[in-house]
Amino acid sequence: MRNTLIIGNWKLYGNDLIIQNLINELNKTLAEISKCLVAIAPPLLFIDRIKKNIANNIKICAQNVDIHISGAFTGDISIKMLKQIGVQYVIIGHSERRIYHKENNDYISKKYALVKSFNLIPVLCIGETELENAQGKTREVCESQIKCILDNQGIEAFKNSVIAYEPVWAIGTGRSATPLQVQHIHKCIRNYLAEQDETIAKTVTIQYGGSVNEKNAFEMINQPDIDGLLIGKSSLNATIFTKIVRIAEMKRT
Ligand code: PEP
Repeated sequence: MRNTLIIGNWKLYGNDLIIQNLINELNKTLAEISKCLVAIAPPLLFIDRIKKNIANNIKICAQNVDIHISGAFTGDISIKMLKQIGVQYVIIGHSERRIYHKENNDYISKKYALVKSFNLIPVLCIGETELENAQGKTREVCESQIKCILDNQGIEAFKNSVIAYEPVWAIGTGRSATPLQVQHIHKCIRNYLAEQDETIAKTVTIQYGGSVNEKNAFEMINQPDIDGLLIGKSSLNATIFTKIVRIAEMKRT
């Protein structure tokens, strides 16, 4: 019913050589992947080149987008431009943007609406900090990050969209949440959406992100409410990323 979706977030890493090697490896090793959806989110500068050279079954995701379509906004990139170069998914509200660029829920909600209005797929990142986790606020924080979009755009906004649960304390730390913890919070997220519309709740893709590697991917991906993985560090190693994609391709349904 829900496709498994693996996204590799390359963040601000890579150079000509690294990117070319990654493209070559992914083209070679992922050509036969058919059940699992795969996307990569490279630094913006490389997207056009990658799009022209990557296998058709690997989709392109942007790491960010501005809230304006065009205008005097130095340094920004618009959704229209991203669409023109073949982007299909856009990461919205990654914790690194919430923290370093002070993006709040309202601002993220505007980006989300814009992505939807261009018929691209938003990947809405949500998740609690270490302190919020210790205070038992995980569910409350995740719901408030979703609520802002529900209030502004309604439940329909979650049709054909992706939520990535990424506890801030697990990103880039090597300390992943356990598969059972993740399953529990994913179920809570789905139930929260189901209060508005059960069908949409059943179809929304909920990914987990935070120190996923080839060792923890199997147990993670085989939880019933974990529909995919958003992968940072491990996606920059083609061998590891490929192993994770193969694990996801075999997800028990
Ligand atoms: C991320 O950047 O979204 C992420 C999950 O990073 P990592 O896999 O390195 O924890």
